[in-house]
Amino acid sequence: MRIEILGSAAGGGFPQWNCNCRNCQAVRTGAFQGKPRTQTQVAVSNDQLSWFLLNASPDLRTQIEDSSFLHPRKGQRDSPINGVLLTSGDIDQIAGLLSLRELQPFRIYCTPSIRRILQEDNSVFAMLNRAPRPVSWTEIQASESFPLLSPAADDSGICGSVFSLGSRYPAYVSPQRTGGLRSEEALLGVVIEASGRRLTYLPAVPVIDNALLERLESADLLLFDGTFWSDDELIQVQGSGATAREMGHVPVSGADGSLRKLAELRHPRKMFVHINNTNPMLDESGPEYREVRNAGWEIAEDGYRIEL
Ligand SMILES: [Zn+2]
Repeated sequence: MRIEILGSAAGGGFPQWNCNCRNCQAVRTGAFQGKPRTQTQVAVSNDQLSWFLLNASPDLRTQIEDSSFLHPRKGQRDSPINGVLLTSGDIDQIAGLLSLRELQPFRIYCTPSIRRILQEDNSVFAMLNRAPRPVSWTEIQASESFPLLSPAADDSGICGSVFSLGSRYPAYVSPQRTGGLRSEEALLGVVIEASGRRLTYLPAVPVIDNALLERLESADLLLFDGTFWSDDELIQVQGSGATAREMGHVPVSGADGSLRKLAELRHPRKMFVHINNTNPMLDESGPEYREVRNAGWEIAEDGYRIEL
């Protein structure tokens, strides 16, 4: 299985258009020891011919253009992108669907609740279904595995399964709508398997419990929420706002942070993704970067390619 990291930053990207934090400022002046990043986007393939996207980032159009394996191959209209699997309804995970609206057939895998939010409440997504060969929506359920199929129903050799990670819907979903949705369908963790190898993809993790730890040990590659270094990171930068945990992200550092909580995992290769521009571990000259690398973790960069 081939895994391509097309983008590795959290929402806003790095640098973020309106951010003047130490990191963003240093990137703009060329003084930063580290890489700028687009918003998190992962693509997977078992044959390197048909590709599936894990979520659809707001930067998807340029990420596709920067990745020759995702370019059209033959005919006037074509794409190797066969489908998109959505882990939540967050804008950072769905906005890229609007860039895929050019009458190209592909599949969208999501929970029934996310499908209702997108199809019934947000009419702009109807543009995906205006053609005679429409985008086909496949509803997925936690604890069921499902094959990833081409629009013509050819089996890609990749199997997906999902589990619930959180119950909070995005802020743009009205309280009335949320009341009618199943809470366990709000935020998913994803397991992607092909040829006996397993990727576990968790770009947003609100809490780490024992059940989650048990799941993670069987992963060959773990792509894990690296949004914030500390719980009060945004408050330190902005002077006010929400904590990392309030925003649904376990911080990397601290007694209950992911670095310490996942230290016991022995089997998976561990890599942080979805890294916010304020996170000090982006600075490769800093102590936070060294701490993460010394703990055996990698920090994903745009353009990373992993063969599992
Ligand atoms: Zn910033």
